[in-house]
Amino acid sequence: ARTDAARTLGGPPAAAALLDAATRLAATLPVTPSIAFIRVGDDPASESYVRGKAKKAAELGLHSAVYALPDNTTQADLHALIGTLNADHGVHGVHGVLLQLPLPAHLNADAALACIDPRKDVDGLHPVSAGLLWQGQPGLRPCTPAGVMALLDHYRIPVAGQHAVIVGRSALVGRPLAGLLLNVDATVTVAHRATPDLGDVTRRADLLIVAAGQAHLITPDMVRPGATVIDVGINRVPTDTGKARLTGDVHPDVAAVAGALTPVPGGVGPMTVAQLMMNTVQAAQNQTVHGHADQSNGASGELLR
Ligand code: NAD
Repeated sequence: ARTDAARTLGGPPAAAALLDAATRLAATLPVTPSIAFIRVGDDPASESYVRGKAKKAAELGLHSAVYALPDNTTQADLHALIGTLNADHGVHGVHGVLLQLPLPAHLNADAALACIDPRKDVDGLHPVSAGLLWQGQPGLRPCTPAGVMALLDHYRIPVAGQHAVIVGRSALVGRPLAGLLLNVDATVTVAHRATPDLGDVTRRADLLIVAAGQAHLITPDMVRPGATVIDVGINRVPTDTGKARLTGDVHPDVAAVAGALTPVPGGVGPMTVAQLMMNTVQAAQNQTVHGHADQSNGASGELLR
């Protein structure tokens, strides 16, 4: 039998702490934070993600509305809705606008994301938010990478001075995570599909973060003994019973080598939604509390990381 050396870094306790912090911050505001979700078409995964996020917002006492647009929505229709939500200020206004991806193939997601008012960019995917992150300036951060940072923080995993290796360079996860880790003094390496000898790179990591979308890409021989391994991957693999099962990008046997490891499911997943709630509350604070409103991205110094 395998003896697991690795400490399990469970998502739920860390997510609960983050949600608690969001709730406490919301209680200090003069308004109820409000988020608008936009979803286009009938992709079942997107539908379920939006439902989960709206449910969490309701649990926290935030306002939310879901705009479910038909599959034949035009780019202009989508931009018009975003424009309306951008302009919805005031006491009962909208503080956060989230465009659920992916969009149907005929729509341009980047163009739509760029229409969102950066102050309402609670998913942190607007080019202004990305630029602020890379300049080390305050701004709204993408939820999954910021959720990873909150998880590391919760479990007191040291980051400064550590060699962090990220596998994956997407605009959603890998790239912004590299910026966040740099901002807190990690030495960062980003590997990707064209990295020739992936194991040679990952074995150098004190902190290995994997967001490749490849089930069990990372095997025990690719991990330095004692390293912290964060598995962002969510892969649906078929089972004998015909039902799909969720698994990560990290092979379960890595638990025998790593010092600490996040499970899938129940690791990074819950952090993403919790961070979205925190971003929404912070966006509401930036838009309503005196002294926050005039800055470029409406962001406070607390958002630097
Ligand atoms: P993506 O497909 O946009 O990017 C994958 C990245 O991994 C690419 O940069 C690619 O170069 C790299 N990659 C792919 N195969 C590789 C290989 N064999 N070797 C080295 N690099 C490789 O995916 P994404 O949107 O960044 O998501 C990555 C994973 O994280 C997916 O499984 C996704 O479901 C999951 N995810 C989870 C959450 C969460 O809340 N936990 C949020 C977003 C994404």
